[in-house]
Amino acid sequence: MIAPMRARPPAALSVLAVCATLAAFTAVPAPLSAQRPSTWRCKHVLAEDGTSWREDQVVTTLLDTIVSVRPARPDETVDRDFGDAWMIPGLIDLHTHLLLRPYNLMTWDDQVKKESDGLRTLRAAQHARLTLLAGFVAVRDLGTEGAGNADVDLRAAMDEAFVRGPRLYTSTRAIALRGCYGPDPLDPTTKKGAQTVAGIDEVRAAVRAQAAAGADWIKVYADYRHGKDGPVAPTFSLEELQALCDEARAAGRPVAAHATTDEGIRRAVLAGVRTIEHGGGASEATLLLMQEKGVVLCPCLAANEAIVEYAGRKGPVVQRLNTARVGFQRALAAGVTIACGSDAGVFAHGENGREIELMVDYGMTPAQALAAATSGAAQVLGAADLGVIRAGARCGLVVLGGDPLQDVRNLRRVQAVVRESDERRLPW
Ligand SMILES: [Zn+2]
Repeated sequence: MIAPMRARPPAALSVLAVCATLAAFTAVPAPLSAQRPSTWRCKHVLAEDGTSWREDQVVTTLLDTIVSVRPARPDETVDRDFGDAWMIPGLIDLHTHLLLRPYNLMTWDDQVKKESDGLRTLRAAQHARLTLLAGFVAVRDLGTEGAGNADVDLRAAMDEAFVRGPRLYTSTRAIALRGCYGPDPLDPTTKKGAQTVAGIDEVRAAVRAQAAAGADWIKVYADYRHGKDGPVAPTFSLEELQALCDEARAAGRPVAAHATTDEGIRRAVLAGVRTIEHGGGASEATLLLMQEKGVVLCPCLAANEAIVEYAGRKGPVVQRLNTARVGFQRALAAGVTIACGSDAGVFAHGENGREIELMVDYGMTPAQALAAATSGAAQVLGAADLGVIRAGARCGLVVLGGDPLQDVRNLRRVQAVVRESDERRLPW
């Protein structure tokens, strides 16, 4: 998550947005047969290069695996003909918080302090469903924000198929420096939004514990506010971050680092993290370091926009927009790989596509931004089966009512999402 702001006015915006998503969606009950492949015809199917369309194609799937992609035959009968629509691989969001809901509905502090893990987990099941209906077939969830290992439970519920949602990469509690994470960072007796530690031994122990609890990734806060309203500054030393990455590597878990200051980003990159979250304050030298080491930036532009909206677009918080935009544009110009990570949870789940729109508004081509949310994000996850429609992939199929390479806002015109994992799956 990003630093919460105080006193947000309530608004009905998120609810309306969610309704709009549902109204536009056509449920596709995939044939629940383990034996018979399913065939899906579509006028335009995104080619493997991600920049062109293969015309009038039939995609054949067996369960959730693509068996073939080929031109349609004359008068061919298929299970579902989507007609003159655009089919892309399922989208990926590398930065979500399914256990959070938008801060204009309840402040971050109150969610962590006052709401039970049980209620938050039940709500997360609905968040997962909304995310999938918006065309996102995989998310990396970067911290439960005080809800323990509820993301691991959510993943288990989806494996058992009584909850529908995207493929979930977990990071459980996340790791922050003691005294630098809320609520009430200086009060050691109250619940915190992350596992707080200090010193190399505690850092190593936290990584081991989180990996053992089911974390696929380790999330660390490399900088944050010091004290309740203190300045944002680096948290862990380079040595502590190196120990964290070393321990994570031993457990086979990559590391994602929240970092907004140049020194925080620099230390995290030197220590060996895979992605930088937010990253707006990187200097030219640090951007070059990221580019050289192949460290990927997830800019979380949509969350900044939401925070500014919640503040009524006034006050010092408005500066966030400019900082985020400039940081993104400098990273893009420096050749840093940028992937889609929206920080959904700060704003409504299912609105994740806003991040892709902002990446285009700030200078990417639609094809670049689409790749950042498909093939590029899949690379970050090390998931060769996601992000490209081709034989052998398990990327899901998202059918759109317009061409997203012409206008990226067509990613919101989701007509269908095709995805199933096995024959025990419940129908939509
Ligand atoms: Zn976040």
